Amino acid sequence: MRGFGFAEHGGLDRLAFVEIADPLPTAGEVRLRMRAAAFNHLDRFTLEGIPGVPVERPHVLGSDGSGIVDQIGEGVSGLRPGDRVLINPALWDGTCEFCRAGEEALCRNFRIVGEHTQGTAAPFLVVPRRNVHPLPDAWSFAQGAAAPLVFQTAWRALTTIGHVSQGERVAIVGAGGGATTAAVQVAKLRGARVVVASRNRTKEERARALGADDFVAFDDEHPLDRVLWQWSEKRGVDVIFDSVGAPTVARSLKAIGRAGRVIVIGATAGPTVEIDLRTLFWRQASIRGSTMANAREFEEVLGHLAAGRLTPVIDSEHPFERAADGFRRLEAPDLFGKVVVTGIP
Ligand SMILES: [Zn+2]
Repeated sequence: MRGFGFAEHGGLDRLAFVEIADPLPTAGEVRLRMRAAAFNHLDRFTLEGIPGVPVERPHVLGSDGSGIVDQIGEGVSGLRPGDRVLINPALWDGTCEFCRAGEEALCRNFRIVGEHTQGTAAPFLVVPRRNVHPLPDAWSFAQGAAAPLVFQTAWRALTTIGHVSQGERVAIVGAGGGATTAAVQVAKLRGARVVVASRNRTKEERARALGADDFVAFDDEHPLDRVLWQWSEKRGVDVIFDSVGAPTVARSLKAIGRAGRVIVIGATAGPTVEIDLRTLFWRQASIRGSTMANAREFEEVLGHLAAGRLTPVIDSEHPFERAADGFRRLEAPDLFGKVVVTGIP
C-alpha cells in the first residue's frame, strides 16, 4: 500500500509517499480502513529521527487516525467490519508492573503508533483491539482523528499529574498547537480560571472562544514570567501547562505560586533549561512531566468528548495527495488546532 511518510530521516524535503506491505491482523488485533489521519509535532521529530528510537523504513507518519473496521483477528470481540472507529495511539505491553497497576502510560515498553510503529497516514492500520474505540455518532472521521493524542495528553497532565481543581489559576503556555487547544478546554472543565499566554496576539479571539477567561501576550520586553505574575495578581499561578520547552519553562517556574505545579508535556522549542532551585523550594512548587495517558484516562476523556463537553479543534483538512502541505502547517505561525488528512484512498 501507499502511505505518506519518509524513506530517509531528515527535514521537510524528505516527506514522500512510500510503499509498504499491507498489514494483516494477528490474534487480538484489528485492521482498519483509514479515513482520516492527523499530525502532531511528534511526527516532525520522528521524521528528523529521535535518538534511541529506531524506526522501520520506509516509514508511514501519523499517530492519530480514524476509519472503518476492515478485518478482525482471532479472539477479538465487540467489533464488526464496517464499524466507525477511532484509535488510541498509545501502545503498552499489558504485562509489566506499571500496566498491571493500571499505569499504562508508564509501561516499560510504552510505544506510540506512528513513532515506534507504522503510522496512520495510509490505507490500512493494524492495532490491538484495546486501542480501538467507537467514533461518536455525530463526529466526522476528521474529528475522530483530531482528538485522541492531544486530549489524552491534556487530560492526564491536568488531572492525574496536575490535580487542577475548582477555582485554581491555570496558565496554558502557547496557543494554537493541538495540545494547548485541548488543555484550555480540560482546565475549564475542571473549574479553573484559565489564561492563555502566547507570543501571537492574533490568537486571542480563538483562545477565548475555546473558553479561556483571559489572554496575555508575551515577548522579549514583556517576558512570560512577568505577564503571568501580573495576571495572577502577584500571587503566582497554581498550574502552568507548558509544551514549548526550554524558552518558557524556566520563566514559567518564576511565575509559579505556592504549592504550584509546572507541567511539562513536550519540549518542541528545546530540551535543556536552567532553573533557580530557590524558587522551587521556597514556594514548595514542583515540576512534573506527563506524557500520553492510561487506558482509564483515555476512556474518561473520550467520554467527555463524546458528550460534547470537550471539542476537537481542527486547523485545516488536507486531501491525502496533499498531505505534505498539511504537514508543513505544523510550523505555520497562525496554526490553530489539528492538521488532518482526509480522503485516504
Ligand atoms: Zn507495561
